[in-house]
Amino acid sequence: AAPDRPRRLAVLGATGSIGVSALRVAAEHPDRYAVAGLAGATNVQLLAEQAAAFRPPVLAVLTEAGARALAALLPAGYRPDILVGPEGYAAMARLPEADVVVSAIVGAAGLVPTLAAVAAGKVVALANKESLVLAGDLIRELARSSGAVILPVDSEHNALFQALGGAGLPDLPLVERLVLTASGGPFRTMPRAALEAATPAMALNHPTWSMGPKISVDSATLMNKGLEVIEACRLYGLPVSQVEVVVHPQSIVHSLAQLHDGSLLAHLGPPDMRVAIAYCLGYPERLPLSGPRVDLVKLASLTFEAPREDAFPCLSLARQALAAGPSHTVVLNAANEAAVALFLAGELPFMAIATTIEAALAAHAGCPVADARAIMDLDGRVRDAATKRAKGRK
Ligand code: NAD
Ligand code: MG
Repeated sequence: AAPDRPRRLAVLGATGSIGVSALRVAAEHPDRYAVAGLAGATNVQLLAEQAAAFRPPVLAVLTEAGARALAALLPAGYRPDILVGPEGYAAMARLPEADVVVSAIVGAAGLVPTLAAVAAGKVVALANKESLVLAGDLIRELARSSGAVILPVDSEHNALFQALGGAGLPDLPLVERLVLTASGGPFRTMPRAALEAATPAMALNHPTWSMGPKISVDSATLMNKGLEVIEACRLYGLPVSQVEVVVHPQSIVHSLAQLHDGSLLAHLGPPDMRVAIAYCLGYPERLPLSGPRVDLVKLASLTFEAPREDAFPCLSLARQALAAGPSHTVVLNAANEAAVALFLAGELPFMAIATTIEAALAAHAGCPVADARAIMDLDGRVRDAATKRAKGRK
């Protein structure tokens, strides 16, 4: 049966890879979804096109100049409120007219708006994994008191969520371990020596997923899987010893849960983020979705192998940071964001991403990170120090 009224979405990071996919899902079910708000940072042209198509009453951008440019690009007769900057994103995340907030800003910039959505008791379709790496405990506590529902968009966590039966995760006490699958990235089989010369263009050329630049580099270093191990532990309250990583180059099995009788519950699907996004937007219903279907006979085989920890030290750095404590995962994330930005700018070799993070962790003794301000202060300090150290290395 059709719903009484469409579910209203606020999309933070609308102009990014996840944001665009979320709007494609919404466009496929115009009777089910309406857009209450759209926020982007840099691509004002695309944001204007999206706004013209969905006509949300509220938009948000990063700067005043961006707001003026956006206003000039909107069609005649359509005059939405345009919010500006971090405050604007947080206001968008709390928007009374929004039922579901899609948190798809990249990096630590997504933390404050994500916390605002959780505090406001929204249904949060959470793609911004960095916010769980920075403040997983805070987010869980806030959600418990506000009644917010956190639905993981990240394909691995979404797969586990589907395999284990949704929001209450009724099978969790029976879980012996979670197995996160990793594509292995573009450098899965590249010899360690050749990795020293890997360029940004090579790192951005992902074999199975099409994603934004930061997460593409994270996939090439395997830091993405490291962040996802932390994300899984924080989402489900499990120790790191219960979360394993297996490389699966075809990206068809999106993750598995092993239960205490040896059963493995898996979720399979095409490598298309719209599947996970659609599940979150429709939850607890499952709406039809167009697009590719998996042809198992054509694939013929699904393969699995151990990650090459020696060539991809970021994976074990993430596990070490998780074991060391909550401020260490803030340091891990900040140093990674700084190093990835330098690598993309051609100012840092690929393998120096890991050594930059390792140095930042070694220099950190632990500190309290009780609230967003303490977390963002530490994030800023580590970012600056890591950038300085990385630039001075030659
Ligand atoms: P992207 O780079 O394609 O898009 C990022 C979005 O964030 C853009 O809309 C951009 O305008 C906005 N943004 C960037 N900096 C901002 C700032 N300082 N303030 C406000 N907005 C800002 O990134 P993406 O690939 O869509 O990834 C988004 C998030 O989803 C990341 O946390 C990523 O780890 C996660 N994720 C992405 C995928 C994927 O397939 N792309 C899969 C799983 C998880
Ligand atoms: Mg993922």
